[in-house]
Amino acid sequence: MTMHMHELGADASVDVLIVGGGPAGLVAAERLACRGVGVLLCEEHPTIGDPVHCTGILAAESFEEFNLPRDATLNALASARFVSPSGITVTYSTPSPLATVIDRPAFDRALAERAAGAGAALRTGVRVSSVEVDPSGVRALVGERWVRARLLVLACGANYAFQRRLGLGLPQAYLHTAQRELRATRESELELHFGRGVAPDGFAWAVPVTRGAELSVRVGVMASADVLGCYARMLAHVAQRWGVVDDDAPPRQKLLPLGAIARTYGDRLLVVGDAAGLVKPTTGGGIYYSILSGALAAEIGGDALEHDHLDAATLAAYEQAWRDLLADEFDAQHALRSVASRLSDDDIDELFDLARTDGIMPIVRKTVRFNRHRDLIRALFRHAPARKLLFRSFAL
Ligand SMILES: Cc1cc2nc3c(=O)[nH]c(=O)nc-3n(C[C@H](O)[C@H](O)[C@H](O)COP(=O)(O)OP(=O)(O)OC[C@H]3O[C@@H](n4cnc5c(N)ncnc54)[C@H](O)[C@@H]3O)c2cc1C
Repeated sequence: MTMHMHELGADASVDVLIVGGGPAGLVAAERLACRGVGVLLCEEHPTIGDPVHCTGILAAESFEEFNLPRDATLNALASARFVSPSGITVTYSTPSPLATVIDRPAFDRALAERAAGAGAALRTGVRVSSVEVDPSGVRALVGERWVRARLLVLACGANYAFQRRLGLGLPQAYLHTAQRELRATRESELELHFGRGVAPDGFAWAVPVTRGAELSVRVGVMASADVLGCYARMLAHVAQRWGVVDDDAPPRQKLLPLGAIARTYGDRLLVVGDAAGLVKPTTGGGIYYSILSGALAAEIGGDALEHDHLDAATLAAYEQAWRDLLADEFDAQHALRSVASRLSDDDIDELFDLARTDGIMPIVRKTVRFNRHRDLIRALFRHAPARKLLFRSFAL
């Protein structure tokens, strides 16, 4: 069932209204439309994928798992340099690339083409400003018009006004981010910097980006405070090595949710991606979880529509499904985050020393997976010297 908004009358109605045209909403739209469901997706910006805030690093394996558009990939990442507060470096490299840098606008546009190709109606430059959900139906103010829907999918990214109003809670924690892509004249490898002055409770990064012969670097930071100061220091630190061509434009700032909201479903309601807080608490990566949750929402929402059982008890299966896949992972990542946030710069330096000398790297090699960090975290917590260091502050 294809529906274009200009065909909708005064009291337009659709099967599913999706708020937000990022990866979560677009994947849900494509998969629902493929089942013959009438989908209207609204994106407040005039162009899908713009503006960009994301670094665009995605696990190489995600492309296969979800048959993602490969024409939006730029360069592969096969090594990373980790830098401690005092400048100790540890390099980790893999024989085949672990991750890929994508062109996020092109990636989102490719997902949008697929959704439209499957029959979903996409409306850009239209904000959904109000939603009312009850057991009998959904009503939403889409631009100037009220639209009725049988099911609402909130895919509105890290914006939580609707979730708060609907009593779904807020993400457990947030960090601030600032990032910019700058032209570079010298190629270098991915680098991640740690330390309380570098990025309190987070880290700063420089990521190589190549488009043909053109080289650039995405410089960014996620931190609990002073994100602009952290960004300026990181840029100053890496500018020479990368031959950065800076025009002094400010970085783009954005809030990063770290942890799921209390409830991601309700009567006639599913919440996916960043809107649900489904982001890796360790790194802030969320593209994979957005796609995963968008796909799960389409599967469970599609079944619910087919049987016309759109009550909260039925849609709870969506939350159960993502929790079955991710809850242990989130718990482990939160445990590491809470331990790491107590480390002083000296502790972090010691940890780097340990990584260089004490056989931690073989553990990393054995357990690290880009989208799953639990095995690595458990192995680190079991490694006696690392455990002693990580938990030292709890003994004070
Ligand atoms: C600095 C930074 C770097 C990051 N780097 C990475 C990375 O390297 N790898 C990774 O995996 N993840 C990364 N992330 C996280 C990643 O960007 C998000 O997890 C991902 O974009 C979430 O997808 P989404 O579809 O849930 O939300 P979004 O991509 O945020 O899309 C939501 C869309 O909803 C629209 N919208 C919101 N409200 C409304 C409304 N009321 N009406 C209509 N439209 C609305 C917004 O305009 C937006 O386009 C990064 C995040 C930040 C901040």
